[in-house]
Amino acid sequence: MPAKRRLWRSFAASNAKIFPYFQVLGLACVVAALFINQNWSWWALSGLVYFLMSCLGLTVTYHRFLTHRAFRMKKWKEYLFCSLGAFGCTGSPIGWVMVHRLHHLNADKPGDPHSPSLRNFEILAGRLDVSFNKWTMRRMLKEPFHRILHEYYFLWLLAAALLLLAISPMVLLFGLLVPAGILLNVSSLSNYLNHKIGYRNFDTDDDSTNNAFIALLAWGEGWHNNHHRNPRAWNLQTRWWELDPTAWVIRCVRDD
Ligand SMILES: [Zn+2]
Ligand SMILES: [Zn+2]
Repeated sequence: MPAKRRLWRSFAASNAKIFPYFQVLGLACVVAALFINQNWSWWALSGLVYFLMSCLGLTVTYHRFLTHRAFRMKKWKEYLFCSLGAFGCTGSPIGWVMVHRLHHLNADKPGDPHSPSLRNFEILAGRLDVSFNKWTMRRMLKEPFHRILHEYYFLWLLAAALLLLAISPMVLLFGLLVPAGILLNVSSLSNYLNHKIGYRNFDTDDDSTNNAFIALLAWGEGWHNNHHRNPRAWNLQTRWWELDPTAWVIRCVRDD
């Protein structure tokens, strides 16, 4: 099978279909951790790792930098932050960006990979418009770092898990499984609530809403109606109370 076809098949067959299982397993790990250890220092470790993988990795780099090209950042930062985001178990940067661009292109219409209005399961069924995605993803596909991280994504996760396990099972639990479990469930919740419950500042051509609960859990990503109005904005704040911690971090790491 040609390398490119294998690359896309690997996404459709593995990343997307395994995601719901990861989510359930992640939730089980969080619940188990609550019973196993209530020591605040372990939970502080989980909080720190959650910030690194969720804010620096996903919201700053996967979302606002790679998907929307909202600001510029040096390559070493892009690769470092992507490596952190990959630990979140929501897929490689190529896979994540591909799905999110489809979401913006078809928001709440057929072809949206995760719309609560459509109750569709296009990701799980592997029914993604691959020809479209190859074109929009051409920039990332040219970079060996992103291709390798995509092709060997599960190997990357397994290697990290084994390494942490070798240090100690508690380090694996609180340093990877708990923060990834929280991230997976917050991501899923935000995909749902950000198009279902909340208020709207703008009359956009979709069901996007601003949801303060998701903004709190996901570093400002809950200001989703503002985001759909202007996807290329690196700061999602429109009203004074719509605090956007991701934008504060972008101010510190951007290079333009
Ligand atoms: Zn959306
Ligand atoms: Zn977006």
